[in-house]
Amino acid sequence: PAVPEVEALQHADVARLLPRPQAESDKYRRGVVGVVAGSGRYPGAAVLAVSGALRSGAGAVRYVGPGTEAVVSRYPETLVSEGPPGHAGRVQAWAVGPGLGDEPAARQAVDEVLAGDVPVLVDADGLRLMDPDAVRARTAPTLLTPHAGEAAALLGTAREEVEAGRLAAVRELARRTGATVLLKGSTTLVAEPPGTDDAPTSPVRVNATGTGWLATAGSGDVLTGLAGGLLAAGLPALDAASAAAYLHGLAGRLATDPPAATDLAEALAPAWQDVLRGD
Ligand code: AMP
Ligand code: MG
Repeated sequence: PAVPEVEALQHADVARLLPRPQAESDKYRRGVVGVVAGSGRYPGAAVLAVSGALRSGAGAVRYVGPGTEAVVSRYPETLVSEGPPGHAGRVQAWAVGPGLGDEPAARQAVDEVLAGDVPVLVDADGLRLMDPDAVRARTAPTLLTPHAGEAAALLGTAREEVEAGRLAAVRELARRTGATVLLKGSTTLVAEPPGTDDAPTSPVRVNATGTGWLATAGSGDVLTGLAGGLLAAGLPALDAASAAAYLHGLAGRLATDPPAATDLAEALAPAWQDVLRGD
């Protein structure tokens, strides 16, 4: 039978994907997500990415970057590490990029996580700082989460081109990078790189739970932490990305209008409850 081109996740699909603690779970087995985000210029991006990661079902969030003070004063449960990501304790997945700016240390941190062998999500400034060859060379799962402008920059085309052909663009970016790609916008598309005869590519996942209220500063940073945490909890990149987009959109509906990015993070727990109850 022909494989459909696109597929929309339903409530029940997401409920099945979300990690549940097992009786024998400990926080390390539930997954530690490392967050590399924020800079002197964008300190809040670190806090927002951590806020999403804390509602991902991972066992712990480890923050690495210049924003430890801001992060810990807001979220004391965050583990923090000084110095480069390579010197941090064990993590099961990295989420890198929001608000990194252009500092050399930021580029170094992106290089370092991409050189490692755990799943990595790259977003925002990380998409500019990353070395495309390093991405293609990876063997562990890689997830890129651009909006249309960031996708256009990676493809070497104009934003309008991406907007005019979002399905083609997300597929092409996955093909070129060899990574799973989540393309943000009024609907969110998640594509995998082309498969083989033995392992054909899944249909592109489409998520439409979001509303225009999600177009607010810092909203994408929350999504990054959430999707990174789901990777750390052990979900494959396609599932982590599409479940995160689903929950993030639902959180936008559950938060009081007009939501700020902070409110989206607060609404993630009610969004989970909704999904698990099957509302
Ligand atoms: P960013 O561009 O990184 O700040 O991320 C913005 C977030 O808001 C992404 O999750 C987008 O998919 C979402 N978003 C932006 N505009 C819309 C829209 N018009 N409808 C639904 N979701 C949107
Ligand atoms: Mg963004």
